[in-house]
Amino acid sequence: MPGKRRLLILAGDGIGPESMRQVRRVIDWLSRNRAVDFDIEEGLVGGAAYDVHGTPLTDATLDRAMRADAVLFGAVGGPKWDSVPFAKKPERGLLRLRKDLDLFANLRPAFLFDALLDASTLKPEIVRGLDLLIVRELTGGVYFGLPRGIETLPDGSRRGVNTQVYTTAEIDRVARVAFELAGKRRGKLCSVEKANVMESGQLWREEVQKLHDSSYPRIELSHMYADNCAMQLVRAPKQFDVILTDNLFGDLLSDCAAMLTGSLGMLPSASLGQADGSGRRRALYEPVHGSAPDIAGKDIANPLATVLSFAMMLRYSFDLEEDARLVERAVEAALNAGIRTADIMQPGKTPVSTTGMGDAVLRELDRLSAEPT
Ligand code: NAD
Repeated sequence: MPGKRRLLILAGDGIGPESMRQVRRVIDWLSRNRAVDFDIEEGLVGGAAYDVHGTPLTDATLDRAMRADAVLFGAVGGPKWDSVPFAKKPERGLLRLRKDLDLFANLRPAFLFDALLDASTLKPEIVRGLDLLIVRELTGGVYFGLPRGIETLPDGSRRGVNTQVYTTAEIDRVARVAFELAGKRRGKLCSVEKANVMESGQLWREEVQKLHDSSYPRIELSHMYADNCAMQLVRAPKQFDVILTDNLFGDLLSDCAAMLTGSLGMLPSASLGQADGSGRRRALYEPVHGSAPDIAGKDIANPLATVLSFAMMLRYSFDLEEDARLVERAVEAALNAGIRTADIMQPGKTPVSTTGMGDAVLRELDRLSAEPT
């Protein structure tokens, strides 16, 4: 690839740094064996940044994130910072990053490794082979719409207000991301809203259909009401390839879809911004889980969600599909070999530490790369 791949690593708090150490080993492996190199900067975020700088995200770190091709994020937060003023809480660092980088498309894959079939609460036949992707609009809708607030009415009672609002531009840009991704997958997109009862949903449906007809006619587009989608996700989740939805419905549906796979320690995510003239998008990759203060520092966390977030970065920010697949296959092979951290432990399998899981992934990378292609 021409030019350096600029990567900013923000490991954060709790199990963030220990998970990220295993990713660094994978990065070193790719450099040694595949000549995939990164220009890596590291920075503090969350409580770790607050302890040193009195703020969960310094302007200097934000500036580095703006200039990076991708940000790889661990996790932030923990009881140590419970009494910190709201504006300085570790989580504010992540929210500011998302907002200032204008990361409007949140990608949450729900992929079930066969080896972890038992971790799902659903019957094996419902979830075996599950592989779907939720694209959630992240910077608009009811979480940001105005007016908002709580007011006291003349009769002394109170009224809480939030506003669901979307413009055509907001719908168009996130829908484009979803259509593009569907094109790289199985070519199916299901757009989800409540057009039956909400005008913003009606607009959403019309705009997505219009974009399909004008620019993505080859993608198989369907529309579904959000309540039905929630039901379909637990009834027959394999009918979906890519689901596109707004901020509120995406919040709920992505958590629901994630838990089809049963394990928080396995779930990666990506948040993407607008493409510039050269096609480069600002992007942040992070595991879905938090800083897990209850197990931090014990070398027992599952690092795979962070490793898989890194694989998403290879795919979406750097177009390194083959390397992304290699990392994902190494994770799968480690699981197939019976290697388990405590959170995904099953009878008869081999319990390992965070470092031990990193060892297993590297072992499988060595083995897979030695295989004749
Ligand atoms: P959590 O995701 O940190 O932990 C929930 C449970 O899952 C815990 O029992 C934890 O031990 C377990 N767990 C999570 N990830 C794991 C992993 N990789 N391996 C093994 N077990 C794992 O959520 P929480 O406990 O609600 O929050 C803890 C802190 O993290 C809070 O301060 C919260 O604000 C913060 N948080 C941060 C993010 C983020 O940085 N993106 C997301 C969620 C929560």
